[in-house]
Parts: sequence; C-alpha cells; structure tokens
Amino acid sequence: MMIKSEKQLKELKNYKPQNCFVSSLYLNTDGSKFSKKQIEVIFKDLVKEKKSEFGDEKEFKDVLEDIKKMENYISQNLDIVKYKGLAIFSCSKENFWQVYELNVSPPNLFTIDKSPYIRPLLLIMSRTHKICTTIFDHRKARIFTILGNEIILNSEIYDETPKKIKIAGYHGFDESRATEYMENKIVEHYKKISDKLLEIYQSEKFDILFIGGKQEDINQFAEQLHPYLKKIYRGSFNLPIDAKESDILRKSLELETKLLIEDEEKTIDQLKTHARSKTSEMAVLGIKDTIRALNEANINKLIFNLDFSYSGKYCPSCNYLALKDDKCPRCGVNLLRTQNIVFKIVDVASEINAEIYPIFYSKELNQEGIGAILRHKGVTKTTV
Ligand SMILES: [Zn+2]
Repeated sequence: MMIKSEKQLKELKNYKPQNCFVSSLYLNTDGSKFSKKQIEVIFKDLVKEKKSEFGDEKEFKDVLEDIKKMENYISQNLDIVKYKGLAIFSCSKENFWQVYELNVSPPNLFTIDKSPYIRPLLLIMSRTHKICTTIFDHRKARIFTILGNEIILNSEIYDETPKKIKIAGYHGFDESRATEYMENKIVEHYKKISDKLLEIYQSEKFDILFIGGKQEDINQFAEQLHPYLKKIYRGSFNLPIDAKESDILRKSLELETKLLIEDEEKTIDQLKTHARSKTSEMAVLGIKDTIRALNEANINKLIFNLDFSYSGKYCPSCNYLALKDDKCPRCGVNLLRTQNIVFKIVDVASEINAEIYPIFYSKELNQEGIGAILRHKGVTKTTV
C-alpha cells in the first residue's frame, strides 16, 4: 500500500537485533478523523501504557531513544492529509529505522519486543496488489508498474502506424483498403503491446492489469490480450497517452480501491448472512462471540475492521482471551489487560491457521467491528 521498495520490506522481515529490543509503532493518522495534536496525544498514551507494563526494565530503557525519534518524526514529518496511517520500526542501538506511510488506517499499537511486530503491516500488504497499468493509443504505449504509492515506467512502445490522413489515396490504395490496412497496423501494434505485457507479467507477476486509453479503443485492445492477462484485466479508464504519472497513479489506485470495496462488501454480506441465519450458525458477529469462538479454536476466517479497537484481557501462558474475566479458567493465572485486544485475537487466530481478512474501506461492519466464519456450528455461550 505504501511500500517504498520490496527490498525495504524484506530487510524488515529478516531483521533480528543482536542484543536489544525493537519498538514497533502503528498509528491511525487519518486527518479526516484526527487532528495532529490528537495523534500526538494517542502516541504519548501508547508509550505511557508500555511504560506502566515494563517499568524500569531493560526492554523499556532500550527503546527510549526510539521513542524520542518517533516523537520527532510525528511532529516534523507526519502528513495527515496524504496518508491514513503510519508504521515505524526502530532499534536505535543498532541504527535500525524504517518508516512506512500507509494508505489505510491501522490500529494504534506500540510494541516492544525481540523482533519488529510486522503482522499488521503484512496484513495490509496481503491485500495490496501489484498493479500494471498500460496507457495506449494507435501508435504508442506506456507501461507502468505500481506498488503502493510508487509508480514506475516499465516500458514504452512506439510503432509507425500510418495516420489516416496520409494513407487515403496513398500507394494507390482506395479508401476502404487504406482503412483496412491501417486497422491491421493498429491491431499489430496492440499485439506488440500485449506481448510486452505478457513478458512483464511472466517476469514480475503483477496481480491486476488496468488499461487507460480512448473509450472506443479499449475493447479492441483488450481482445488482443493473452488469456493470462485477460484473467487479471480488471478495469479501464479514459486517459490520454501523455497523461501525467500522478494522474495514472491516482486513477489506478481509485480503481483498485473500488475492487477492494466490492470484495469487502461481498465478504461482510456472507458473514452477516451466516451469523443471522437460525439454521446455519456458521458465523458470529461482535467481539464477545468472536472471542468465545477463538477460545474454542473454532474460527475459519476472521473478519474485522483494521482500525477496530477494544480493550480486553489475555492469558500470558495459554493465550486464553477474555473481556471481563480475571483468571484464566485453564491455567488459573491472572489475565493481563491490554488496551486493544483485536491484534491479540489476530495473533491467536493466525496460530490456528485461520484466514485473516482485515476490512480497509467498507463501513458495513462498523457496528460490530469484528466477526468470524466458523469451522463448525455454533459457539458455547461461556462468560468471557
Ligand atoms: Zn491460560
């Protein structure tokens, strides 16, 4: 969604500090919901919560410098108009520092651990497509690859297809033959673009193909696509061949968002249908039943608003989750409170190999925030 480079992400995934703790920060920086001042306060509260958890232990001392750097970044560089979220990973002792500006809002989280907490980032990435957009006309084509906010010109094609005005009466052709000749040349040009697209697809494996051109040319062009490309061709828009890169990026991301919203709404609709059906009992809605289902390892697909937050408790030894319980019914130990139980739920659900489906855009799940498709019928209504 915002990855500056795949190299950066790879570096993050492989990062294991030698002898210090790493801090990971996620912030919802949606300027339409929060002011910069409010975001700064949220960050301070997250830090305060961690401080009360760790006190003067090494973990917290290790990340004091990270906290200062994060604070500076937020006050100096945070762009709440352009980006909806921010993720920072830092280990000052080893000079490790990475910033990700996000197009979607993550939950507010601050963790201190032996490795960066990357699950939320990977979840965001998991539904981010590598896009190929090609802009074409009768003579030219420009092929771009897009990942997150980055657009790169991959290839340009230029063919000497004749112009209509020159060909009429040219080479002794009559008008209809001239038109036919010209159209064949254009189809050849389209085929050449399609071949190039296939070559890029096979080497770079993009997920979605978008096409920009004149409305009347799009269908004819799409017909020339290889079957592999037809499968991932997901939409078109009207843009001239010399369109600005920023416009191509914006149009492509708008189309991608539209596709994501459609998929989200289909998923939520399926969840609600099953949850509300008296005969199905194959889904649950809301935090309470989702926790019950998870404690029974009965979740097949976890569906939740990415920025949904709910305070809860967990067992540090067996990961039993609760809202009000004080003691773990399995281990008898005291449950620990956390400001946001949602990513604890995600972590535990991942451990039982549930599919994790975060909602980025749709508002259809706003009332419940979370729900799950079950593995088998119903949940036991235990107190949690
Ligand atoms: Zn336990």
